[in-house]
Amino acid sequence: MTTVLSADWVLPVEDPSIPQGRLAAPIRDGAVAFEDGRIAAVGPAAELGWGTRYEGAAIVPGLVNAHTHLEYAVYGGFGDGLPFDRWIATHMQRKALLGFDDHLAIARFGAVENLRSGVTTVGDASYSGAAALAAAELGLRATVYLEVFGSDPDAARARFAALSETARPALSERVRLGASPHAPYTTSMDVYAAMAELGLPLMTHLAENREERQWLVDGSGPWAESRGKHLLPPIGTTGIRALARRGLLSPNLAAVHCVDVDVEEGQGLLVDSGTGIVHCPRSNGYLGSGVADFFTLYDHGNRIGIGTDSPNSAGDFDMFAELRTSLILSRAQTRDPESSFSAEDILMLATLGGARALNLDAEIGSIVPGKRADLAVIALADTALHPWDNPASAVVLGGSPEHVQATLVGGEIRYEKGNGEWQRHRSAAVDARRRMLAGASAAPPGSASSP
Ligand SMILES: [Zn+2]
Repeated sequence: MTTVLSADWVLPVEDPSIPQGRLAAPIRDGAVAFEDGRIAAVGPAAELGWGTRYEGAAIVPGLVNAHTHLEYAVYGGFGDGLPFDRWIATHMQRKALLGFDDHLAIARFGAVENLRSGVTTVGDASYSGAAALAAAELGLRATVYLEVFGSDPDAARARFAALSETARPALSERVRLGASPHAPYTTSMDVYAAMAELGLPLMTHLAENREERQWLVDGSGPWAESRGKHLLPPIGTTGIRALARRGLLSPNLAAVHCVDVDVEEGQGLLVDSGTGIVHCPRSNGYLGSGVADFFTLYDHGNRIGIGTDSPNSAGDFDMFAELRTSLILSRAQTRDPESSFSAEDILMLATLGGARALNLDAEIGSIVPGKRADLAVIALADTALHPWDNPASAVVLGGSPEHVQATLVGGEIRYEKGNGEWQRHRSAAVDARRRMLAGASAAPPGSASSP
């Protein structure tokens, strides 16, 4: 059966009939037809029919939150204002206090919050594997990268195998598995190599701040003074160079952050290897890590998506806030709005860009016949940006989770404004947070056994 949705605007983002690099024009009074979970046609509603009509709204490809952690949905405010090394130590200590059921309750809320923000696909770095079950249950498309840490490849393989068993019942066409060696200061190059041998999609935190570089290169900088408990020894070079030397940068890897990259790394090693990059500007700003030179990295041919990271560093899963931050910071950096990103570019990076960074662009990321019917309906009528003659600007500058009317994954409505499920999942997640904080006050500082 064919279903048709229509709205004041449809923004397909990509049009296969025009040369790559040019974006598809928005369709006024547009419609999307889909069948069996895949897009059948996109065009004027006058031709495709009006179907279910959303007044004062735009239909966009479902947003791709290319890096997040569903399991940290209620970690907002932990370690607020601490330097990165003490912030992450607090984070590691607290999450280790929770049992699996609590991780799952929190991850369910994270999945609902992403759907509420128009997100249809996440690249999730998962500590417990619960994110896979939550995504499957709530209908979110996900690549769940199971996190490993440490210096011992055998221990990392064993941890990965155990987490895979947890996630296995969730796996489907919609939820697929990846591996995430956490970061070069917590994970050895041998462990990265062991995870690469699995042949799965990979994600890692990389070049997040200057202190990471200082520690990795020669053990200097602020991290040397504060502690070394969760840190592996210095490796004599940067994380990007170490991975490059081992042949571990590849199109199969999504490198998250890339704030502190030099010219050789950003315009040579990352782009030449085809490594994907995920830009998380709010997280980087909040933690005092800096501002990634997102525009230059993109301009030099890197495959880039946008992610919220987790509420522990970004406050929430609001992709619209992430898009605005991306747009505003890139223009502030280039000091030239004409040659920097447009709102259309930012919307493309949050959809097709994220899909490319995660190697999912054959299936998702734009409203093109044959791709999955992953769609978000955004109300423009009551936004501050009124009137909305430029719908991409209205979505990027005026959008928010409160303006998302519906989110569809594979043609199925997975979120609708006013949906009462949200409150139930929120309460369960808040209860889990309460238990964690009770445990944190009972446990002596530094008692966590692993990151
Ligand atoms: Zn992260």
